Amino acid sequence: HSKDCVKVAVRVRPFNKDSHFFLFPFKSYLNPPIVWFCPSLTLLPPPPERGDAGSRCIVSMVTSSITIQDPRESQSRRSFCFDYAYWSHSGFTRDRGGLYVPEEPGGRYSDQDSVFQDLGEGVLENALQGYNATLLAYGQTGSGKSYSMVGYGPNKGLVPKLCDRLFHHRENRTPGVFFSMLEIYNEQVVDLLSRGSRTPGGLRVREEQQRGFYVEGLRTVPCDSAPQVEQLMDSRSHMLIILQLKQIFSKESITKQSNINLVDLAGSERQRSSGSEADRLKEGTAINLSLTTLGNVISSLADVAVGKKVVHIPYRDSVLTKLLQSALGGNSRTVMIATLSPADICYEESLSTLRYAERAKRIQNRAVVNESPTE
Ligand code: ADP
Repeated sequence: HSKDCVKVAVRVRPFNKDSHFFLFPFKSYLNPPIVWFCPSLTLLPPPPERGDAGSRCIVSMVTSSITIQDPRESQSRRSFCFDYAYWSHSGFTRDRGGLYVPEEPGGRYSDQDSVFQDLGEGVLENALQGYNATLLAYGQTGSGKSYSMVGYGPNKGLVPKLCDRLFHHRENRTPGVFFSMLEIYNEQVVDLLSRGSRTPGGLRVREEQQRGFYVEGLRTVPCDSAPQVEQLMDSRSHMLIILQLKQIFSKESITKQSNINLVDLAGSERQRSSGSEADRLKEGTAINLSLTTLGNVISSLADVAVGKKVVHIPYRDSVLTKLLQSALGGNSRTVMIATLSPADICYEESLSTLRYAERAKRIQNRAVVNESPTE
């Protein structure tokens, strides 16, 4: 038994060009092609003409501490300290293949490789030792969650890099790898591997004493190569990927089984309402229940960690928090990457992401190696 705090990293992305793509806060509610090709169809004001151009960067970093400045009050700054802080805002260049690399060797730009080395390798190592491991991406829409988790083109993110390494390990450690992938929409679990045959009402989430919460009937596919996993992951919607590892150590007659949860959360702005009638209505629906509950669970667990009396942790209030119960305050080693836009216009969202991440950092888990005698 060991007590592990949730490890938290923040990452700030470069200024962006295709603005309406990332300013649109409900990108997975609507049919994306309609939104992308006809931005005027959306209910939002038209996007600025040149993306972030004209915005000011209000974020700065020194080692693992990050400072954000209120654009309306030059004296008002807030600093936060995390386990890792990644500067991906400037100091980069793109090579011929489109890969983002530091402008000069050893420069300050954090590329996908350096993020993987710090976060991804640890997650994989934990899972191979038999601990459950969880990697969560949290942040405003357009702040770089998908970039960090999945990546675009040659800039492969944490999940594909982790899979590359996992199957590279196979020769000496022979884990069996089983892949599943789901989306939570309107509090219903949608199996992303069985899209042809959707279960009306979604799949059921059940609970077992030993196993905790799990999705009944979720399709699980055995995998033996990274390209196979990448092919399965063609969906870009927010999702939960579960990699189950099974390792048999024949000499010791021991089997280790562990899960890696890879979670690309919906945009954090969906948790709050801007106060309009339409937003208030939406707030009452189940669409953002999972994210709101996740915030409540994180706050309660942060209170527990500082010794406050907490009667009840509301895991059962949403599907997402049920499925992440072991990742939050339970049997898992957990890493959160909080992504930020550098722009002044995103100040409120970025500050709220930093506060959320600060609370997550206090959560303590009790991870154990999941091993049993081989049958
Ligand atoms: P989200 O998943 O949070 O909605 P994305 O990951 O799609 O946001 O990022 C929005 C845009 O910013 C994309 O065009 C992506 O390529 C770019 N981007 C995000 N993070 C980085 C980064 N660290 N380096 C370079 N480009 C990035």
